[in-house]
Amino acid sequence: MITDLRSDTFTKPTPGMMEAMVQAHTGDDVFGEDPSVNQLEAMMAEHFGMQAALYCPSGTMSNQIAIKVHTQPGDELICGDHSHVYIYEGGGIAFNSGVQVRTVDSDRGMLAAADIIAAINPDDVHKARTSIVSLENTSNRGGGCCYEQEALEHVREVCDQHKLALHLDGARLFNALVATGQNPKLYGQLFDSISVCLNKGMGCPMGSVLMGSTGYIKQARRIRKKFGGGLRQAGYMAATGIYAMEHHIARLADDHANAKRIARALLKREFTGHMLPVDTNIVIFDVKGDWTPVTFTEHLKKHNILAMAISATQVRMVTHLDISEAQTDHVCAVIAEMTC
Ligand SMILES: *Cc1c(COP(=O)(O)O)cnc(C)c1O
Repeated sequence: MITDLRSDTFTKPTPGMMEAMVQAHTGDDVFGEDPSVNQLEAMMAEHFGMQAALYCPSGTMSNQIAIKVHTQPGDELICGDHSHVYIYEGGGIAFNSGVQVRTVDSDRGMLAAADIIAAINPDDVHKARTSIVSLENTSNRGGGCCYEQEALEHVREVCDQHKLALHLDGARLFNALVATGQNPKLYGQLFDSISVCLNKGMGCPMGSVLMGSTGYIKQARRIRKKFGGGLRQAGYMAATGIYAMEHHIARLADDHANAKRIARALLKREFTGHMLPVDTNIVIFDVKGDWTPVTFTEHLKKHNILAMAISATQVRMVTHLDISEAQTDHVCAVIAEMTC
C-alpha cells in the first residue's frame, strides 16, 4: 500500500461518498436547477454566515472569480509573499483580471495589518489603485498555520478604513476551524468573499465554494460562466460536498494528530533541520547532512511513502483522509530507522 503524503488532494472518495454521488438528485445547474448544488451552496453559506454561495470546479477558479468581481483592470491586489493566488495560479490575476500584485513579507504566509497599511497606494495618478487584500487560511506554503481572530480583525479594520475588499483563500479553512475552535460565522462577518476547497481535507474529488453577499455572488455567477465553469449535472459532485460537510469536518482533528506524530518522529532525527510549526495537517521541514530533499523523498519512496521536495532544502508531508493511524505508525518507523 502506498502512503501518499504529497498532498491532501490525493484522496479517493469513500464508499459512503460514492453512495451519496449515486443517490444524488440533479438538474441543470447553469439554469440553477440542480437541487444538490443548490443545497450545498445554501449549506456552505449558512455555515459561514454568508448570504450566498457559488459552487466552482476548482479552488483556483473560485479565487480567480473572486478577484475578478472585486477589481477593475489596472488595480493592485495585496497578498502575502507565499500566497497561492500569487505563486500557484499561473499568473491568473494578471491574465483574468488585468490586476497587478503587491506582495507583502509575511510570517509563514500570515500578514500583519501594519504591513498591509504600508503597501496601500496613495490616491495618486502615478499609482495603481489598491482595491483588494487577499489572505490565506490555513497558509499552505506557511506549513498550514492559522490566523488568530484578533489578527483577522485588525486586517478588517484596515480594509474598512481604506475601502478595500477583503478576500479569503480558505482552501483549508475547515482545518483552521478545527485547529483553533473558531466560530465559522466569524469568517462571514470579516470577509467580503471566501473560497473554500472541498478537494483537500474534505476528501471530495473536486470542487470549491465561493461565498459572499447575494449581489456579489450574482456577479460571480456571470464570471463563472465566462470562465467556462458553468457545469450541468454538477449535483453528482456537489453531493460529495454535502456528504463531506456532514462526515468529514470533525475528523480533520485526526489528520492534525497524525501530522504532529510525524513531526515529532522527524524532530528526533539529526537530519531534520528547521521545521515550520505544525498547526494542522502540513509538515514542512529542512533536511540536513548528506540528505537533499530529492534523495530524502527517493528513500521514502522505497518504503512506499510519497513526500514532496518543495525547495532546495525543504520537504513537505501532508496528512489526510487516506492516511490512517497505522500508516502514520509506518511513516514514523521508517523515519526512526533512516540512515544515509
Ligand atoms: C489547493 C489550493 C488552492 C486551489 O485549489 P485547486 O482546487 O487545486 O485549484 C487555492 N489555495 C490554496 C491555499 C490551496 O492550497
